Amino acid sequence: MSGGTFVGMPAFPKAAHEAVNNQTLRGNLRHATHTIRGKRAKAVAEMSDWAELREAGKRIKDHTLRHLDTYLVQLEESVTAAGGVVHWAADADEANRIVVELVRMTGESEVVKVKSMATQEIGLNEALEAEGIAAYETDLAELIVQLGKDRPSHILVPAIHRNRGEIRDIFAREMSEWGRPAPEGLTDTPAELAEAARLHLREKFLRAKVGVSGANFMVAETGTLVVVESEGNGRMCLTLPETLISVVGIEKIVPTWRDLEVFLQTLPRSSTAERMNPYTSTWTGTTDGDGPQTFHLVLIDNGRTDTLADEVGRQALRCIRCSACLNVCPVYERAGGHAYGSVYPGPIGAILSPQLRGTASEIDASLPYASSLCGACYEVCPVAIDIPEVLVHLRERVVEGGPVTRDGNKVVLKPAKGHAAERAAMRAARWAFSHPGALRTGQRLASRTRRFHPRTLPGPGKAWSGTRDLPAVPAEPFRDWWQRTNGGKDTSK
Ligand code: SF4
Repeated sequence: MSGGTFVGMPAFPKAAHEAVNNQTLRGNLRHATHTIRGKRAKAVAEMSDWAELREAGKRIKDHTLRHLDTYLVQLEESVTAAGGVVHWAADADEANRIVVELVRMTGESEVVKVKSMATQEIGLNEALEAEGIAAYETDLAELIVQLGKDRPSHILVPAIHRNRGEIRDIFAREMSEWGRPAPEGLTDTPAELAEAARLHLREKFLRAKVGVSGANFMVAETGTLVVVESEGNGRMCLTLPETLISVVGIEKIVPTWRDLEVFLQTLPRSSTAERMNPYTSTWTGTTDGDGPQTFHLVLIDNGRTDTLADEVGRQALRCIRCSACLNVCPVYERAGGHAYGSVYPGPIGAILSPQLRGTASEIDASLPYASSLCGACYEVCPVAIDIPEVLVHLRERVVEGGPVTRDGNKVVLKPAKGHAAERAAMRAARWAFSHPGALRTGQRLASRTRRFHPRTLPGPGKAWSGTRDLPAVPAEPFRDWWQRTNGGKDTSK
């Protein structure tokens, strides 16, 4: 996975430090996440069969992932039969090379883009730019991020960290560098900002010969790709250009249209709190005289088969990128999206990035710890990804196995660094719990000496107890209390 604009990020606590102290950012985030989460809760409450839909979504995804090899071959055959060309990319570099070559073959030097996490993941814009090809983002929030030379901080609302005043300033300052300037005297009212973006983008839609997209879903039985969106920019990019190149992760497959029905109900309610998406675009290969006449599908692995090999971690591949988990996460709300060092922020980013990229870097090794494990993310996830379970699993991998790196196609475990104290504490706990006599003696000793116990920990433990109270040791160990109140029986023996 390409580091893209995130190369060399420090560990999560360090990266989050600045955001946590930025009152404007925290205000923007609090307002936006609380508004979206409230609307989502209402939209979901309207559905009496939400629990069944959630279970159905989980099962469809699990079934598809179990038979991914079969469905990928079926998809390739369907897309090819419908007039498309399928390309396979093992990693970000290969995917970027393929797309650059495909654009070059058209003779064009600019493309319009539909909002796509997959192309951000592989750093496609940067790869195109390096080859002299301009990539114009057309989703409003992505446009704000691109014009502001910024990074996205939310899956669904990439400019969630910006308020209207900041957006007005960015438009007024930057639009003329990229094309049609912002209107004179632009204010920060939503209608004026939207109109400025509409006028700026319109000329790009009408000029572009090449469109680049991702896809929310790919239907294996017919080779149909699906993009859901709210602004209509996607529809423009998918229908006006002569050539369409779609870059999609291999996990985005659903077997049939019938399966798609489930997600077209759960995705809009979980993401934008809408009953259905304003625009649902589907296309199957090419059609004479209608839409792009050349269609390429670039299927990317980029760490997904490694993730699939992990029995606990593979559930992250069920994700339909609704962003509901971000909007309820207390850590995301305070730290913002940039601290996660990836295009996938929030709880899903904390379990997806370390699996796609491995945990060799400082930021990836720290992501499984970027959570209070409160479980709110699991509660709202429309495909029931048990994010806390995966976080704990990945913590275990970081502590026990050390950073995971990739050597060619092999996953390599390196000795863990920097967690020696935690490992020693865990070893001591294991020894104590497997020696009941020693544990009992230790507990009694701790109770008798409790008045002398410090209220903060020394050394490396200081950071932990700096923000928490150490729990007080009880006057009587539970085991003695149990024995005393249960007729002298020590049931632990
Ligand atoms: S993990 Fe679940 S809640 Fe979070 S973005 Fe993915 S599907 Fe949505």
